[in-house]
Amino acid sequence: MVISGPSGVGKSCIRQEVLRRTGALWSVSATTRSPRPGEVDGKDYRFVTRERFEQMIAQDELLEWADVFGNYYGTPIEPVWQAIKSGQTMLMEIDVQGGAQVYAKLPGETFILILPPSMDELRRRLAGRGTEPPEVIDRRFAKAQQEILAAQACGAYTYRIVNDDLERAIQQVIAIMNTPRPGQAAAGA
Ligand code: 5GP
Repeated sequence: MVISGPSGVGKSCIRQEVLRRTGALWSVSATTRSPRPGEVDGKDYRFVTRERFEQMIAQDELLEWADVFGNYYGTPIEPVWQAIKSGQTMLMEIDVQGGAQVYAKLPGETFILILPPSMDELRRRLAGRGTEPPEVIDRRFAKAQQEILAAQACGAYTYRIVNDDLERAIQQVIAIMNTPRPGQAAAGA
């Protein structure tokens, strides 16, 4: 199951709570960005060098990968195959470029786009972090707009959830997770 949405929309909060309340597995992405305070290697991300990341690309170790704000991010393929084989739901929180690649390889996956209540509210949330200079916020806002348009254009994201109420958004994701996909019911029958 793929969850995407622009920066600042609250997808990490939703994801953490969904993982806590369900038995879903979490796909730990590899990234070349530096850890933020509190982030744990192997739990939040696998923090790797650019050299190692490029090796992972060359050796087909990634289901998808993308360059986001100048850093590489990618989904290790092996845990995803394991989850599919064992019939478990694996949550991938990735950007839309990555979501489109997963859609090309696994069109039967579930794709959810998390949206802000409005673009004005998203700008407020991005600014509200208070940690970044205005030009970084402008850049993130422009990327957020592009990301929403790209998600709508790529055709993968059949589920769209507006995060105006965190609890409702969490419950909507869990409800989607519990909805059998075509083929799944037959396989379980
Ligand atoms: P952050 O650096 O804030 O943790 O993540 C930045 C962006 O990278 C977010 O939009 C996040 O969803 C995306 N991202 C995280 N992991 C992956 C991944 O494995 N693949 C792709 N394509 N995007 C990712």
